[in-house]
Amino acid sequence: MRLDYITIFPEYFAPLNASLVGKAIDSGILATGVHDLRQYTHDVHRSVDDTPFGGGAGMVMKPEPWGEALDAIVGPDSQSQTQGERTVLIIPTPSGIRFTQQVAAELADYDHLVFACGRYEGIDARVPQYARTLVEVRELSLGDYVLNGGEVAALAMTEAIVRLLPGVIGNPASLAEESHSEELAGLLEYPLYTKPASWRGMDVPDILLSGHHAKIAQWRRDKAEELTRDRRPDLVPSSD
Ligand code: SAM
Repeated sequence: MRLDYITIFPEYFAPLNASLVGKAIDSGILATGVHDLRQYTHDVHRSVDDTPFGGGAGMVMKPEPWGEALDAIVGPDSQSQTQGERTVLIIPTPSGIRFTQQVAAELADYDHLVFACGRYEGIDARVPQYARTLVEVRELSLGDYVLNGGEVAALAMTEAIVRLLPGVIGNPASLAEESHSEELAGLLEYPLYTKPASWRGMDVPDILLSGHHAKIAQWRRDKAEELTRDRRPDLVPSSD
C-alpha cells in the first residue's frame, strides 16, 4: 500500500517512522510520501489561505495549491493513475462521515490512500468537488470534536488502517476479538489481565486461572456486553 499526505506541516508525520508503521515501511509493506502544500504555491509569501467569501472569522485554504497538488498526486498523469492503482482521497473533516473500524477495514483494501490535511477553518469547498472528477473521495471525521488540523486525524486513521494489512501485526490472531471487531460482534473488549495473579490487593478473576476455555469464553462475552452496555449503549445490538 502507498500512503501520501498533503499538508502544510510535513514535520507532523515524523511518527510514521516509529513503531509498527515504521517497521511496515522498512519491510516494504508500505511506502509513504509527505508533500508540503506550499510547494504548489507561486507567490512570494507561499500563501495557502485567504479570507472567507461571505465574511466571518478565520481563514480558508485556497483552492489553487490544492488543485496543483491533487493533479500531481492523483491526476491523469500521476503514477497512481497510470499504474491503475485503486486510489482514494481521504479528506479529514469534522463535518465528514464518522471514521469507524468498518471504514478502516474498507480502506485497507485500497492500493493507494492520499490524505488531504486541512488547517485554518478548512479547505475551499470546490476542492473536494474537483477531486471527485479525478478520484474517489471520502470526507471522514475522527469524532465529534474539532482539532486544529487534519494531520493528527490522518495519522490516527493510518494506524487503524495499516494494522489490518497482512504482515503488519506479528500475530494476526491479535486482531480478532478486539473492540469493534466482527468476532466481538461490535462490542467493546472484555477486561484483560496478565501476571502477577495478585497485585496490590487486587486478584485476577478465578475463572481466568481455571484453564476452562468454554467458561472463560462465556465470562469474556458477558464482560464485553456489560462494559458496552455501561459505556457505549449505542453499540449494544438491539434484541428485536
Ligand atoms: N471550520 C471547520 C468546521 O467547523 O467543521 C473546522 C476546521 S478545523 C479547525 C481545521 C482542520 O482540522 C479541518 O479542515 C480538518 O482537516 C481537521 N479536523 C478538525 N477536526 C477534525 C475531526 N473531528 N476529524 C477529522 N479532521 C478534523
